[in-house]
Amino acid sequence: MVIRMRHTRAHTGNRRSHHALKAVNLSKCSHCGEAHRPHHMCLSCGYYNGRQVMDITALKAKRDARIKAKNERIKNELGVASETGVAETAKASEPKEIKSDTEKKKVLKNKVKDKRPEEKPI
Ligand SMILES: [Zn+2]
Repeated sequence: MVIRMRHTRAHTGNRRSHHALKAVNLSKCSHCGEAHRPHHMCLSCGYYNGRQVMDITALKAKRDARIKAKNERIKNELGVASETGVAETAKASEPKEIKSDTEKKKVLKNKVKDKRPEEKPI
């Protein structure tokens, strides 16, 4: 930044004095009593100005069905993956018994120690 472009702290503070967020005013839904933005449809029941604008319950049911289908699809994919992964985890179960890093290091050192005496007689 070129020094010419620098603003004083007062200038920056004056500019930022308008950056604060204001609290949102909410009005009560006349149909269900839930809080909603004024001049906007109620997001919990889909009513605006006393009449139903959107069938929220149907949309929610549709959305839930879609999410369920997606979750089942993911589960099936993971299930297929886990079946192949079970063999791998069974093979790798011995190192997984060791939990902390210090134990791992100890085991590795022991393995190295075990190998060295074997090498010497040869
Ligand atoms: Zn409502």
